[in-house]
Amino acid sequence: MQKLLILWDIDGTILHSGGAGMKALRAALQSVFGVSGSFSGIEFAGRTDPWIIRQIFSRFAIEETRENVASYIDGYIAALPGILAESGAAVLPGVSEILVRAAEHPGVAMGLLTGNLRRGAQAKLGFHGLWDYFPIGAFSDDSEVRNELGPYALRRARGHWGVDFPAERVWIVGDTPHDILCARAFGARVLAVATGGASASDLAALGPDAVLEHLGDPAAFWRVVGPYYTQRP
Ligand SMILES: [Mg+2]
Repeated sequence: MQKLLILWDIDGTILHSGGAGMKALRAALQSVFGVSGSFSGIEFAGRTDPWIIRQIFSRFAIEETRENVASYIDGYIAALPGILAESGAAVLPGVSEILVRAAEHPGVAMGLLTGNLRRGAQAKLGFHGLWDYFPIGAFSDDSEVRNELGPYALRRARGHWGVDFPAERVWIVGDTPHDILCARAFGARVLAVATGGASASDLAALGPDAVLEHLGDPAAFWRVVGPYYTQRP
């Protein structure tokens, strides 16, 4: 059987972290550099963590040395679990059900394609017990340019499952225009969900293969990807 590969975005798609990512970045700014201030105007949704860190360093005039970046990331990762616990982080409706069914389905492989750093992704998903659903992933450790992440995910999927995943059998599930553009960059299909900041009509305007208001009706999700997960003539 030819497998279908579903690559998931995290924030706004699988879960809402209650702003925990931003709060942890702010806490680390204080703990590592003794700096506090506003992140207003910095775009978070759909951006990669290294890109966001670059904007923060620029805003607060922190020199972008390898040591400063590494220290800041360590501070962010250290702050994340405690902040997740008090931020009202929640898995979005329907997602757990979809993940359980997908994990049991022999025709479906799942991975991550996210702007999170790998350790941040593990903290956010692990908090909800969801990390183990994703044997492979592409993260912003691989590239700070989201549009470059697709090939990393495909290469790791081939390594893990031992089969090729042609782009037409790969779906991105994501909540922002950046997810749609990222899918287009490597020829994958894309299901956009309006559970992040962007509205369904704004997402639809970018021409994804499908748009859902939310994943609260798992049957609607399977109607979108279902035609692709069995052997086709
Ligand atoms: Mg997102």
